[in-house]
Amino acid sequence: MRIGISSSIFLDSDKDLKYALEYLEKKVRYVELNCDGNINVMEKENMDIPNSYDLNYTLHCPLTDLNLSSFRDKIRKVSLDFVEDILKTADKVNANLVVLHPGYCVFKYDYKKSLNALIQSLKDLNNIQKEYSIKITIENMPSYSMFMFREPTDEIINNLGDLGITFDIGHSFLNKNMGKFLDNDELIKKISHIHIHDNNGEFDEHLAIGKGRIDFEKYKGNIKKIKGIKLVEMQNKSINDLDLCITRLKNLLV
Ligand SMILES: [Zn+2]
Repeated sequence: MRIGISSSIFLDSDKDLKYALEYLEKKVRYVELNCDGNINVMEKENMDIPNSYDLNYTLHCPLTDLNLSSFRDKIRKVSLDFVEDILKTADKVNANLVVLHPGYCVFKYDYKKSLNALIQSLKDLNNIQKEYSIKITIENMPSYSMFMFREPTDEIINNLGDLGITFDIGHSFLNKNMGKFLDNDELIKKISHIHIHDNNGEFDEHLAIGKGRIDFEKYKGNIKKIKGIKLVEMQNKSINDLDLCITRLKNLLV
């Protein structure tokens, strides 16, 4: 059973990356690194830090600025260019999997154009993935209407090619579509990585398992079928619940 924790539990806290990895090394073997704020692994002074810990890494893209679904092709291409920088960072820290957000579209009039832009980006990302030999995954997003890939729509799933999905269970619960992802064996095969956290169905709270309303018990069989790392993604405000969350996750997966 491969269990991990995202360094996001220290995002926007007063701790630095060294402190975060030292803390997490005592709890798990797998850590997801982030590209934002105080724990931004893309910063020069942080880039060499991960290799001094006995941990295996995955890498999450920056939460801001990128838009792989921009129908403004210059913006989309700059985003893809930056994805290459993320992959170079992944290579440097020996991360074998990268999590990307699919991008966004604010106005419904633009949705079709944005969807076509995203499909083009998926094709381009397949080529980039080959070049770097690092698994690229696209994450399903929470229930804000501007986000792309809130639902497992055919147009996106059928154009993933060799890319994987990062299945975020909290985001899926907010969109009331856990069954659509997890009761579909073909889709489960495409899931390479999973973000685990809980919420009460309204906001993306990133709580410990059991502190929200997700029925983990009901879906544990399907979650076990997913081959990737089961990665807890919580926020600093919930750090005192981290051990509880890890224990509950282990109990679910036995
Ligand atoms: Zn994410």
